[in-house]
Amino acid sequence: MSNCIFCDIVQGTIPAAVIHSTANTLAFLDIAPVRPGHALVIPKAHHPTLWDLPPELGNELLEALQNVAKAIRKATQADGLNVMMNNYRAAGQLVDHAHFHLIPRQEGDGLHLWPQGAYPSPEAMQSTAAAIRAALA
Ligand code: AMP
Ligand code: ZN
Repeated sequence: MSNCIFCDIVQGTIPAAVIHSTANTLAFLDIAPVRPGHALVIPKAHHPTLWDLPPELGNELLEALQNVAKAIRKATQADGLNVMMNNYRAAGQLVDHAHFHLIPRQEGDGLHLWPQGAYPSPEAMQSTAAAIRAALA
């Protein structure tokens, strides 16, 4: 056993309902599903957050996300599907091994995502965009 529950699932030292595996990714059902079929896609290697993921993993990870998402939609007859990732506690991350939630959705299932707000002014929106552009530069 390691100190990371998802590393333990990759190693097979704790059980999981595994649905897909590639050289560097694994997908298994979330033990506490938002909706039946809710799955997690993870890198097999321990990387804590989005920013720790090696870009070289990108293609394989995207392909795994697409394949698993397609299969979940088919198996659950879902009308739609959310892909979600939490990074750090403030965003709801509880397991510090990067993971993408795939959540099948039905029309009118009553599940509401986050409430949206408004900028106090167009200038406030522009200055927020400027701050992010500056951080990218
Ligand atoms: P997050 O809040 O984004 O870190 O999500 C962690 C997710 O891992 C939660 O949705 C948990 O239900 C799920 N989880 C925790 N332990 C296990 C486990 N042993 N097998 C499957 N899913 C798990
Ligand atoms: Zn881990």
